[in-house]
Amino acid sequence: MILKPYAADPNFSLGRQYNEPKSEFRNDFQRDRDRIIHSSAFRRLEYKTQVFVNHEGDMFRTRLTHSLEVSQISRGIARTLNCHEDLAESIALAHDLGHTPFGHAGQDSLNTCMKEFGGFEHNLQSLRVVDLLEQRYADFDGLNLTFESREGILKHCSLNNAQNLGVIGERFIKKQQPSLEAQLVNHADEIAYNNHDIDDGYRSGVIKFKSLMDVPLFKECAELVKKDYSSIDEVRWVHETIRRIMHKLISDICKTSSENLLKSKPETIDEIRVLPQLINLSKNMAQSQIELKRFLRHFLYEHERVIEMTDNAKKIIKDLFFYFINDPSLMPKAFHNKSKENLPRVVADYLAGMTDRYAIKIHKDI
Ligand code: MG
Repeated sequence: MILKPYAADPNFSLGRQYNEPKSEFRNDFQRDRDRIIHSSAFRRLEYKTQVFVNHEGDMFRTRLTHSLEVSQISRGIARTLNCHEDLAESIALAHDLGHTPFGHAGQDSLNTCMKEFGGFEHNLQSLRVVDLLEQRYADFDGLNLTFESREGILKHCSLNNAQNLGVIGERFIKKQQPSLEAQLVNHADEIAYNNHDIDDGYRSGVIKFKSLMDVPLFKECAELVKKDYSSIDEVRWVHETIRRIMHKLISDICKTSSENLLKSKPETIDEIRVLPQLINLSKNMAQSQIELKRFLRHFLYEHERVIEMTDNAKKIIKDLFFYFINDPSLMPKAFHNKSKENLPRVVADYLAGMTDRYAIKIHKDI
């Protein structure tokens, strides 16, 4: 790993919340990544919805496979830009740990339930998971990750919440940027879901090839594939097209961001934090990505089959929320014991940690 001076450096990390001796063999960002992989929240990602509910089919993305794809893309970009690959990997693997069951529907529903009690943001919840909710260490709650991993995990946050978060919330108040590693993971996240959602949407039959050809970026890449392989079958045509779209987006980010870095010549990560965002797509490509997102919103996320699943999920979360609020003793002992301090938040923590199938089972049982 060849690092540029603007990369995050574990030897100059802003540190962990609780002091720990350094490892002889692994740098601090590697240890962060390893802790995330061994956490129970990470294993539960396997049974959480990305777009399609986990039991709708074995071929669809789950939060876990999504996170692995984000990590793969992030590491590629980090290596190209000579940023710290281990930090990018750690942020990518942890970025969705706070997601509720049933994807965004679950989060919206829980946020509505929590309206009077400070709301619910999955991003903030990811930070709660690594700071508090994981209980694996004798000396502290949470995983005691470095500041840099935590900074990257908290990708957005309301001003209100930022004010209660101490140092980690400061950048939202000062309107500063996180490390380049955190910036690039945000982009990798978008590239991953935009492309795998086309793939899953097409596989499910919800998105048709014909309508995909209305998306300029898709059409452009699909026509190039057809030129090279005139008799290609449709399924392979879609896959080869998605592959090329991803390549185009990732190459564009690397190129545009390299130019940005050359122009502004940051010497340290501290400069990165006060400069404007340097990891970016070119203007044209950013526009293409917006069109792709718009397409997905209209043809996939707002499709009646997906909405039906969504409405179902919202009801399950709402029912469970009031069920446990009314009788906290029905929660597992660890949550019940904590519930005297702030019952709604404890119920939200418990619900957010559930997998799809666990939430469905509990809901059936009651
Ligand atoms: Mg994500």
